[in-house]
Amino acid sequence: MNLAKRKIVPKGVCELCGQDEETVCHLLWFCNHTKEVWTASKIVLPFEISKFWSFLDVIENLQQCKDTRPDLLEQVITVCWGIWKNRNELRMGGKGKAGRTILRNAMNLVDELHAANEQRLEAQVETTPTISWQPPSRGCYKVNMDGMVFSNSKQAGAGVIIRDEAGEVVAMLSKKWKCPLGAIEAEAKAMEVGVHFAREVGI
Ligand SMILES: [Zn+2]
Repeated sequence: MNLAKRKIVPKGVCELCGQDEETVCHLLWFCNHTKEVWTASKIVLPFEISKFWSFLDVIENLQQCKDTRPDLLEQVITVCWGIWKNRNELRMGGKGKAGRTILRNAMNLVDELHAANEQRLEAQVETTPTISWQPPSRGCYKVNMDGMVFSNSKQAGAGVIIRDEAGEVVAMLSKKWKCPLGAIEAEAKAMEVGVHFAREVGI
């Protein structure tokens, strides 16, 4: 998108396309520039958005399908935020981003949100006595690793943590790969990274 190439448009008219009134609905769903983002997303909504809907109408409908499409609400809101941010950047004289870039950034944010929630859940689970972490025997180190899959951005990652007999962290590592791995492959990759990393730090 490049606002610099646009013509001066009358007040209230969408500055991205110059073809319609800039309502919230137009900007987020119906503007030609916005459509580029949604087409790239392959997100199919289970309802049709009317030009007369408010943003809250869309959210209400998304909430109603929370049981069947649990990730949809956060995906749609994050993409909308990306579109809005890009529109503001353009208005402030910025270059603006291509639709695919807006989408990729939004999906990365959704992945980061999932990863953060996952870690929080893991932390909660670790506090339960039945599966609490046990330190290694004296003179030994314990290497824990975990793989994760960021399906939206088609990336995978791994985290490794090495602790000593007192439970003190000796070394940590996190990695991300730009390739779509399955859950088991990501775990295997994490194992490989963990072994290499342990060797690198000399244990
Ligand atoms: Zn427009």
